[in-house]
Amino acid sequence: MNTADATENLTYHVFVNEWPQQTNGFLPNGEPKRFSPQASTLICGSDNAVLTDPGMTADQARALGDWVAEKGRNVTDIFVTHAHGDHWFAAGLLAERFGARVVATAGTIAQMHQSVATRPFLWDKVYTGIPPSPVTAITVPDNRFRLEGHDLVIVEVGDSDSTDTSVLHVSDLGLVVAGDVIYNGCHMYLAQRVVVGGFGPWREAIDKVEALKPRHIVCGHQNKHLDDDAERTIAETRQYLDRADELLRTQPSAVDFFNAMIERYPNHLGRTVLWAGARALYGAREDPGKDFGKIVVAAWLEP
Ligand SMILES: [Zn+2]
Repeated sequence: MNTADATENLTYHVFVNEWPQQTNGFLPNGEPKRFSPQASTLICGSDNAVLTDPGMTADQARALGDWVAEKGRNVTDIFVTHAHGDHWFAAGLLAERFGARVVATAGTIAQMHQSVATRPFLWDKVYTGIPPSPVTAITVPDNRFRLEGHDLVIVEVGDSDSTDTSVLHVSDLGLVVAGDVIYNGCHMYLAQRVVVGGFGPWREAIDKVEALKPRHIVCGHQNKHLDDDAERTIAETRQYLDRADELLRTQPSAVDFFNAMIERYPNHLGRTVLWAGARALYGAREDPGKDFGKIVVAAWLEP
């Protein structure tokens, strides 16, 4: 997708990376597994640019980097919304290619170290071609930086699909780059509900995004054929959590929940993420004494 909105010398563009098929089994309905499409945003001034959520694998970094290079800007910063590996394990490659620094909140940086520790047991077992991912991200004073006179403000929103998540607010564009706080036409990753005891914190995070009064929201996972209307994506994200809550009450098993969700959202992409989240939620319910980290790993790895 090539969304662009301009305010004087400021524009933004969105690149959506698609994933190859996975080799660790199939979904309950027989479909091959495939990770959700992944969106990166390039916020461009006349000469400089800021890139967000640079993706995970070397192949993705190459595709994204070539697209960025075509825009002909000097990339000063790469901002990472949260610590899940799909959003930043390739940051080092892109930082090196463009001579950019990597920026995140202190909370996200702490979580990045956790993601690196989990890599060999989780990410590397499912996906090939993830480059070395040392944590090189730095914080910026007051969570703010600038692009040719325009403020880019990092807003910490707490728990959403993971811990210590944030969004980037570009008020001069009416834009929020929302990472995985808001989704657009993709199934949401729901396992964090177990960690924080419900969707309450996520709903609060959505409220914080809404309070910024954006017109446009770039979601970390989106169907590239949809627009980026803020009101619609916020409403749909809230509704998805409501429906998930309802179906978690009524559906007896992970497979039942998966089937009920794809019946309600037949056009949503990212069923692999739905299935992994469902398995984690029902795994925790069925075996409450078990270490949840192990349940999550099994939810992603098992065929
Ligand atoms: Zn994600």
